[in-house]
Amino acid sequence: MLSVVSPALAALIGLLVGVFAGYLVAWFVLHRRAEPEEVDAHAERRRILDALRSGGAVIGDIDDILAANEQATDMGLVRGNRVAIPALLDLVREVRRTGETASVNLDQTRPGRGQRAEQRLAVRVLRLQDGSVLVIGDDRGAALRVQASARDFMANATHELKTPVGAITLLAEAVEQAADDPDAVAHFSRKIQSESSRLSQLVTQIVQLSRLQGEPVTSSDEVLVDDVVGLAIDRSRQLAEQRHVSLTRGGEEGLVVRGKREQLVTAVVNLVHNAITYSDEKARVVVTTRTVEEHGDRKVAIAITDNGIGIGPEDTQRIFERFYRVDYARSRQTGGTGLGLSIVAEIVEGHGGEVTVWSKLGSGSTFTIILPAAPDEEEEDG
Ligand code: ADP
Repeated sequence: MLSVVSPALAALIGLLVGVFAGYLVAWFVLHRRAEPEEVDAHAERRRILDALRSGGAVIGDIDDILAANEQATDMGLVRGNRVAIPALLDLVREVRRTGETASVNLDQTRPGRGQRAEQRLAVRVLRLQDGSVLVIGDDRGAALRVQASARDFMANATHELKTPVGAITLLAEAVEQAADDPDAVAHFSRKIQSESSRLSQLVTQIVQLSRLQGEPVTSSDEVLVDDVVGLAIDRSRQLAEQRHVSLTRGGEEGLVVRGKREQLVTAVVNLVHNAITYSDEKARVVVTTRTVEEHGDRKVAIAITDNGIGIGPEDTQRIFERFYRVDYARSRQTGGTGLGLSIVAEIVEGHGGEVTVWSKLGSGSTFTIILPAAPDEEEEDG
């Protein structure tokens, strides 16, 4: 067979085979080099975006999202494969065209997220070397809300403090004027004592609240729930006796959580005091403890139940706000400040837990503190 192929044709075939083989090799080399680069660029973008605290997204030539981090989706900057805010999309196009970096503030209301619905997004948009556009956004709404809440707190605290201070000033003048009347002096003095103890309770609770805010619980001491409940009941016994309210405990024993015992006692005391205070005389207050499973995690529940006056549905939404009181006159008369439940919420949240309330007007209330259970020693070893 070979003999029929002329040397020239053989050379030509050889050349063609050589060129084809060379082409194949070049094709493989090019493709092997190009693919990892593509993958690397994409992975690199993701790595950078994931390392950001801010929301970040890289947008391609046809307004498609080349990469975005979770925060960008949470903030509502991107949805699926598109830029979610029309004004932002316009800015992305402009920056792609002009190459000039731009900044914008976008006020957004996101549905269904309660107080967090208001967002103030500070966004920067810049063109990258490859022509794609980088969007970086921060929700300044959270910082603004903290500032607003601090301002409200200061205004409320000042107002609350002014009331007893004003009363003490007037009462002191009254004492002076009634100097010749011993009964009147005794009467006004008792009032001064009551106002000053209110003032001191307010100051103590304001200080307590501000300390709790500045200091998340880092202690991992084991705390026996029986001790917390026992101490809280001991500290409430006198008030219960004064009001002829029966105070009992029950449920599972031997439960253990982690955190600061004294803080947890304060939280339970505040709830037991409220249960006694907002009940009629001869009411019953029960503290029960039990283990609950939540999404596969073991938790400890401490429930404080009373058969007192109860709370209406609108008020149950607000009672954890600082200084909020359902019945201002009753709360003031019983020495309330409207801070007790905010302190409970701060303590429980600081321990990684939550406090919930069930209540019905005229029937009573149950406040439940739910805390992560301390892991068993065996679990820890494993
Ligand atoms: P206060 O110092 O006024 O008791 P809290 O923050 O402890 O402040 O409670 C806020 C308000 O919630 C109270 O003023 C009261 O109206 C209501 N409240 C709290 N606990 C109970 C309860 N167990 N039963 C009925 N109302 C309650």
